[in-house]
Amino acid sequence: MSAVDLPDTEVSSFTVDQMKANFVSVAAHQLRTSLAATKWTLNMLLNGDLGSLNDEQRAFLSKAYESNARMIALLADILLSDQIDAGKLKSSGIAVNLPDLIDSVLVEIRLLGNMHHISIDFVQSGAAIPPVHIDPQQMRAVLQNLLENAVKYSNPHDMVQVSIEHRPDYVAIVVKDQGIGIPSEQQKDIFNRFFRASNAIQVEAEGFGLGLCIVKNIVEQNRGTISFTSTENEGSTFRVELPTSSVV
Ligand code: ADP
Repeated sequence: MSAVDLPDTEVSSFTVDQMKANFVSVAAHQLRTSLAATKWTLNMLLNGDLGSLNDEQRAFLSKAYESNARMIALLADILLSDQIDAGKLKSSGIAVNLPDLIDSVLVEIRLLGNMHHISIDFVQSGAAIPPVHIDPQQMRAVLQNLLENAVKYSNPHDMVQVSIEHRPDYVAIVVKDQGIGIPSEQQKDIFNRFFRASNAIQVEAEGFGLGLCIVKNIVEQNRGTISFTSTENEGSTFRVELPTSSVV
């Protein structure tokens, strides 16, 4: 007899919780597929592949692109959060070239930056950066979250800078913005799930406080550390350090 045939009292709360979790995960995957198709079409339109656009058409399509991108990012966060909750976040570390990974994430983030009138500068280190052994998909989510936050919590015409530092035992990725910053008394809470600082809620009504909790979990799962400094109304700097050794 399947769980749905049982009288309510016999369906354990464990089963209901599991069914809910499965539903969220399946729904999120399906939504993601359809949003990805929409993104592809909007991209073609914005690139002028289907004919040139006037300013008004471009402005409307850019808004559609942005809200679609926001939903894709939210779904990615829901799926990752789900994995973290279930203790199923596993990293498959391979040798990854960080500058290449950052470049590929920046292709999308620059579009978001353009829409908010924020320029994003990638300061490449003169020295060669050794590969780091990390899960590339998960680290992409880390970079996306940190860079999206930097853009989201900046003021128009601010600048966001991402840079890489190579030290003997680790490589650091540093994301620096000149935005609203985090009030000092609220800084202790920002890696807690669902936490949003009061100034962030004012400037950006949409947000769920999932991103940084996921970022911290992923970074630690990949043997790294994350830290930040921030001053209200001056900006924030997030720093992710990843070991260069491949030993897990
Ligand atoms: P969300 O951005 O959806 O609120 P996050 O988990 O990514 O969720 O961030 C949690 C909170 O940390 C944000 O609501 C904001 O208060 C603060 N925060 C994160 N990044 C920045 C940043 N670059 N500048 C200012 N505040 C930030």
